Amino acid sequence: MLLKKKILIGLTREELESFAQELGEPVFRGRQLYSWLYQKRAASFDEMTDLPTAWRLKLSEVADIGTLELARPAKETRDGSQKFLFELADGLRVESVYLPDSPGETVCISSQVGCTLGCRFCATAKMGLFRNLTTSEIILQVLEVEGHCQTRLTNIVFMGMGEPLHNYENVVAALRLLTDPDGIGLSARRITVSTVGLVPAIERWMLDSPPAKLAISLHATTDERRSELMPVNRAYPLEVLFKTLRRFAHFTRDPVTFEYIMIAGFNDREEDVDNLAHWLKNIPAKMNLIRLHPTGSGLIPSSDEAIERFMGWLTEAGIRCTLRESRGIEDEAACGMLFTQEPFKPTKVRAWERADERSP
Ligand code: SAH
Repeated sequence: MLLKKKILIGLTREELESFAQELGEPVFRGRQLYSWLYQKRAASFDEMTDLPTAWRLKLSEVADIGTLELARPAKETRDGSQKFLFELADGLRVESVYLPDSPGETVCISSQVGCTLGCRFCATAKMGLFRNLTTSEIILQVLEVEGHCQTRLTNIVFMGMGEPLHNYENVVAALRLLTDPDGIGLSARRITVSTVGLVPAIERWMLDSPPAKLAISLHATTDERRSELMPVNRAYPLEVLFKTLRRFAHFTRDPVTFEYIMIAGFNDREEDVDNLAHWLKNIPAKMNLIRLHPTGSGLIPSSDEAIERFMGWLTEAGIRCTLRESRGIEDEAACGMLFTQEPFKPTKVRAWERADERSP
């Protein structure tokens, strides 16, 4: 019988220490393995030259470092970013985007295959949810993009497919591995986890203090309009969300970052700034304005003039704001545009196709 090999990327130092012991090796071998996997980014057991040859051989029999296959060659977009379509072990596919100089060496990664939230403007929403990514798959997106782009990444944004806080455990486990100075060693201040504002998960975040910044996708200033865009607002309306965010700001002592897609006539009016001033009372905040990217939602992006006017009003109201320049739009690699046409490996025979074959 063929034994399933253990995937090592995604395991903590303690788990690797136990694994070494299970294989009859001393605990420190686990620590060496940890350093090879994460700090030195080893791609094979052969590279791990301070491990005894016999043990390296044993390791290659029972374990795999872990990889994500490229479903097709990475696509370089016109502005230098690169979109990766990765194929997971079960044939499902996710996308990641490499964004050089934006700022630093940035990768935008996915936390789920698809999403359940149904935000009206987002392409991923149309897929529905297939499953959560494992800790290993989250980290491997970073390591694979580094390998393919021959770079050391400095910044990570969880703004690819999925709602990171719906996959809380795996995302937080990945954050701990990504920021361990003895491992991958990224700075927690350079990792941003973006959420629609799941209140119980934000409460939990305050207890756990995971090593990353949180950003809130706001996109509208009244419950009526926000619920129209984001069904999640019906579960956690603005009053409830901002009550938690007030505590969150107090707790982190940092400004709360909001993402705000600019939609013509819908959320770029002067009264939206008045509403924002109301919600943001006593909350140090930073608004990241984003141009609406086309996803067939029927919503119309605000014009440059409207965005400029809106930024002027925000500034007058004492609300800090920046316009995030979008990249990869023509190539469908920008925020909210990640959508896997074929979330499965095309060769895979699916249950419903088999059923079709049987039907007369
Ligand atoms: N579920 C999380 C993270 C994924 S989306 C969240 O919603 O925050 C990352 C960012 O891209 C979010 O701010 C999201 O609102 C934004 N986005 C989604 N669709 C977009 C679109 N069509 N145009 C511009 N930004 C979009």
